[in-house]
Amino acid sequence: MDEITLQFWGMNVNLPALLVTLTLLGGVAGYYLGRRKLRPDSSPKPSSPPDSYTAFLKGFQYILANETDQAIEAFSRAVQISSETIETYVALGNLFRAKGEIDRAIRIRQSILLRQKVDQETKLRALFDLGVDYKQGGFLQRAISTFEEVIRRAPQRLDAYAELEALCEATRDWQRAYELQQQICKLSQKDEQNILAHLKTEQAKDEMKTDNFDTAKAHLKKALALCSDCVDARLQLGELYWLKNKKKKALAIWKKLVQSNSQWAHLVVQRLAERVGGPGDDKRVLSFLEGIARQELNAAAQLELARCFMQRDRREQTQQALRRALDMEPDLGEARKMLGAILLEDGDHEGALHEYRALLKHLRPPAKQYYCRHCGLATDEVQWKCPKCHRWDTLCPRTSSDD
Ligand SMILES: [Zn+2]
Repeated sequence: MDEITLQFWGMNVNLPALLVTLTLLGGVAGYYLGRRKLRPDSSPKPSSPPDSYTAFLKGFQYILANETDQAIEAFSRAVQISSETIETYVALGNLFRAKGEIDRAIRIRQSILLRQKVDQETKLRALFDLGVDYKQGGFLQRAISTFEEVIRRAPQRLDAYAELEALCEATRDWQRAYELQQQICKLSQKDEQNILAHLKTEQAKDEMKTDNFDTAKAHLKKALALCSDCVDARLQLGELYWLKNKKKKALAIWKKLVQSNSQWAHLVVQRLAERVGGPGDDKRVLSFLEGIARQELNAAAQLELARCFMQRDRREQTQQALRRALDMEPDLGEARKMLGAILLEDGDHEGALHEYRALLKHLRPPAKQYYCRHCGLATDEVQWKCPKCHRWDTLCPRTSSDD
């Protein structure tokens, strides 16, 4: 968790801890006010505050002094579980979880669940919190059973479906994740076919790893039927045909991908840069590369094209692709270095010198290749679901205009 601190009465206070404390304060204050109201004689009486109240205030002071351990001890003494103090108890559990003391958080939820006087809604919330505790503690199977129980008790709880779906993704149970996502789409009335397509694609990728090509193909076809724009599904379908040695078909599928989603063309070209097939294949691949070189591609794709051409000893086409990349992104250091090396090998010392001078002029740390349109995360890894904001299809290749 990110530590956010505030200046409070001259002290640095951890923000999440302060929020939990305010909840605790509200809960306990409500409890005592409630008790006062319930007393038949509400005339003010001079009396010493109850022990639990004093312990609670002590806990609050500890939080302000950033002494969370002592604060937790004090709160634990202050709070006697009952329907009036339940909010405080829940907040205390959350404070344990935030501190990473999962065992204690779990015990709090379990004690709420075992309590007879607590209403069903509160118990359901404690059960949900227990699932989150298990997840955070890494007890994924227990978390799964807990959220299943929440859904059994409350079949309309969208948040429990979402948690369960995420856990199925984490345990690579793609079929179940897919079915849960269908339920989520139904309950939320959101048309998120792209997510369903990704889940089918992930399932296909696992099948491909164990050479179950027919099953994988069925999943990929389903993915593309759900969302014809699913880049990963098309990429993988091409890969599947390539692995089955049906290269003509693979190239036709990738060609379609390059035409419809040119910003992702570099992923296709990268695959071809990594593998050089037999002479017959290579002729086919070369004609594919020459075909897409005539299209409007971004600098990343041009750089990958240059690598492909270079591997196939097409120096003229390599240079052309590199120059197109550099026209779009003058500070693309990789392209500049490669061009300099080619010119040097060709004996064009003047040209090489020019490129290296330009390289020095534009020298700066390379920008990350992808960024998330939703949360701004920058990364060099291709990911279809943002690891920070957990949204699908928000990571995009960076373009020179993004700088
Ligand atoms: Zn994001």
